[in-house]
Amino acid sequence: MSKIVQKYGGSSVGDVEKIKAVAEKIIKEKKTGNDVVVIVSAMGKTTDSLFSLARQINSMPPRRELDLLLSTGEIVSVALLCMAIENSGYKAIGLPGFLAGIYTDTVHTRAKIKKIDPKKILYELANDKIVIIAGFQGISAEESITTLGRGGSDLTAIAIAGAINADRCEIYTDVEGVFTTDPRIVPEAKIISEISYEEMLEMASAGAKVMQARAVEIAQKYKIPFMVKSTFSERGGTMVKEMTLEEGAVVTSVTLDEHQAKITFFNVPDKPGIAAQIFGELGKENINVDIIVQNVSKQDHTDLSFTVASSDMEHALEISKRQGEELKAANVICDDNICKITIIGLGMANHPGVAARMFKVLAEEGINIEMISTSEIRVSCVIRKNQGKKALKSIHNEFFK
Ligand code: ADP
Ligand code: ASP
Ligand code: MG
Repeated sequence: MSKIVQKYGGSSVGDVEKIKAVAEKIIKEKKTGNDVVVIVSAMGKTTDSLFSLARQINSMPPRRELDLLLSTGEIVSVALLCMAIENSGYKAIGLPGFLAGIYTDTVHTRAKIKKIDPKKILYELANDKIVIIAGFQGISAEESITTLGRGGSDLTAIAIAGAINADRCEIYTDVEGVFTTDPRIVPEAKIISEISYEEMLEMASAGAKVMQARAVEIAQKYKIPFMVKSTFSERGGTMVKEMTLEEGAVVTSVTLDEHQAKITFFNVPDKPGIAAQIFGELGKENINVDIIVQNVSKQDHTDLSFTVASSDMEHALEISKRQGEELKAANVICDDNICKITIIGLGMANHPGVAARMFKVLAEEGINIEMISTSEIRVSCVIRKNQGKKALKSIHNEFFK
């Protein structure tokens, strides 16, 4: 008998009919004699609606209560899915994060899992029950409900798979797997049958919504291979696992992130400690900074730009303005009319000239590059937001024609 973890995303449980269909899929697995643990997300766009409800009441909702509110979305799905399974004559038990033994730190809305105690899950499996767990949530040492950041049900699934030593971990979503780019923007995108943790992590960090970056990080750290598949079709499927450099394609995928903002400090003193101060303050507030560009210094002063997620923009700008005053910067501004386009490939490390091909395509389209950042297996360019989709299509065409 094997232990199987399945995760169903929001669009897979978007309405009553879909919940019933998911229940049948779960039962099919159970019928093979396996132990089945299921992680489920909130129905459709529920989490967005809950955010919006909170903001209508309070523009800066207290984060503890915001988490309490957000956690309800997943609990609704859990309860309904259990009811659907019981309706078909199988035994299921639904567990919110805190009853499933998911312990987190205290950073509300983006908590990290510290420990999983799978006692309850294993006990219920031993009682022949299908265990349905609410994704995206846990409990902190302060006994508050926490949530794990957007897309956090992926993390719950990977972490539970690790904690119970699952034989298989399957992430079910609304596309057939991981593609060479978002198939909703570029219909010519091709499915990738196998991809390394490193590339999947770069893709997720670059904004490919299909997996949460932190979930992939944990999968890589604890070597938990997983499969991304469609809830609605038997076709496709992408295995995410350890792979060697030699097995990797030069370019595996292209990713567009339209949820980025740029903050610029004009004319700050160019002396040791300035970057440490600015990024130290942002780090203290848990704001992730992505690409950083500093200009050549003129008269001991320089301009410094960096990007953050749009959702962090207001907070990052407030901190930056405060820093700007202290450092006597001429001005601090933000711009969210940008996007970031990234090419990723393990094989890039051994093939020079890949970045140049990407820049050439952008040049031919008359698209100006505002910032560039590279790693061994990635090249990212920041460009104007209204040129993002055009750039994505052209770059995809260059590498995957
Ligand atoms: P779920 O609700 O199942 O968690 P998400 O909406 O979070 O699903 O993620 C799936 C979506 O990710 C797809 O509908 C697709 O539009 C998007 N996506 C972005 N990039 C890719 C990619 N390279 N491959 C597959 N899907 C991608
Ligand atoms: N419901 C949460 C979100 O929308 C978590 C998830 O779907 O993974 O971000
Ligand atoms: Mg998701």
